[in-house]
Amino acid sequence: MIRTVVKDVLFLEQKSGPATKEDVEVINDLIDTLKVNLDYCVGMAANMIGVKKRILVFSVGNMIVPMVNPVILKKENPYEAKESCLSLIGSRKTTRYETIEVEYLDKNFKKHKQIFTGFTAQIIQHEVDHFEGIII
Ligand SMILES: [Zn+2]
Repeated sequence: MIRTVVKDVLFLEQKSGPATKEDVEVINDLIDTLKVNLDYCVGMAANMIGVKKRILVFSVGNMIVPMVNPVILKKENPYEAKESCLSLIGSRKTTRYETIEVEYLDKNFKKHKQIFTGFTAQIIQHEVDHFEGIII
């Protein structure tokens, strides 16, 4: 189901808790909502649709990849990035890392550990920040 994008900063500044198998619909809603916003947006965290759970989705090529309870284990090679967010107006500067190692569950709650680089790594870092209530 396509959901409304939350723009309330006071809500977005709250931390998200771990997701469970009961949150499977949230994964589908996030995918549906990102699909209709792909012209402006490359990734979303669940709190952007009003659910304070650690679920994110991002687009890579023509796929949308969900991650449940992702944890960034390692980050290397910091750089200054300029980012925008569907929930915010304008763009801001922030520090990101070129290479990250992430442990996460897929939509079937199967565990993965994977290295990401470049733009995909940047999107994941942005969305993981959302879980902590950090908005760029
Ligand atoms: Zn954002």
